[in-house]
Amino acid sequence: MSLENIIGQDKVINFLKSSIKNEMLASSYLFIGPEGVGKTLLAKEFAKLLNCEKNNLDACDVCSSCIKINKNIHPDIHLIVRDGSDIKIDNIRQLENDINLRPFEARKKVFIIQDAHFMNAEAANALLKTLEEPPRDSIIILTTSHLHKIFSTIASRCRKIFFSSIDIEKLSSILEKDFHVDKTSSHYLSYFTEGRLGKAISLKDKNILSEKNAIINDFINADNFKQAQFDLDTKNKEDIKYNLDILMSWFRDILLLKCGFTAENLINSDRKRELENLKNEYKTEDLLKIMHRILDTYSMLDYNINPKFSLEFLRVKTWQNYR
Ligand SMILES: [Zn+2]
Repeated sequence: MSLENIIGQDKVINFLKSSIKNEMLASSYLFIGPEGVGKTLLAKEFAKLLNCEKNNLDACDVCSSCIKINKNIHPDIHLIVRDGSDIKIDNIRQLENDINLRPFEARKKVFIIQDAHFMNAEAANALLKTLEEPPRDSIIILTTSHLHKIFSTIASRCRKIFFSSIDIEKLSSILEKDFHVDKTSSHYLSYFTEGRLGKAISLKDKNILSEKNAIINDFINADNFKQAQFDLDTKNKEDIKYNLDILMSWFRDILLLKCGFTAENLINSDRKRELENLKNEYKTEDLLKIMHRILDTYSMLDYNINPKFSLEFLRVKTWQNYR
């Protein structure tokens, strides 16, 4: 893949290319944008661009440098990801060690710290020293979807690059045309991911409609609620959040219809008729309460509180409404 193939981030791509052309490279970057818009993907492409043997402001994808980066085996390109719940000082010490070595073969060594908001204070402090005096042959790229969680001392030392989501209609047609996703699924994916290409691509191979419908059905049917879908003892945080997003989309759709929006705006347009019927079963204030409760449950997860009981309570309330 060359940079041209990263759809929807033209502004960022043009900016990075002109920085290379005009020799205005920063020593550290902070890529900021919603989860799943392609920040890490673009960071890797940037690394390819900086090191491509053809050296013509695009990555060729066939030289040895491009191939190694594509396969994640280039000795000078490092991806640092969180180790368990956070990015620890040992991860940063390793970076410090690597950054002070001469490059094996690259023109620029590149260190990508993915989801840098997971750096704990110790790690962030250690990184700060490196950001103050970075070696000339290295570039550090931090990515984050939570700018407010990045230590300001770190953020102020990086050139900030903002990524945005793609227009929902555009994403839907990209999924259909370039990824051969059927129309109903591509509509759902583009709305559900709010225009985040990377996220949509990561979900496209699942049997997405039946999966989300099963989660919705489990929740709204009194008899077969599978609490395990929302239990930290059996599921990881990200999966539970994904399930909560699905529930949120359901109640958001009912609210939308209740407020007079048309069915084209539905996320769950595959269940249009059912949603149309449901809008009369709920009061607006109840829908708002339910959605608030889902958001509260979301924050519980960030504090590592098991949300299963919160959801059970919500479900009983929802179910009362539903009948
Ligand atoms: Zn190349």
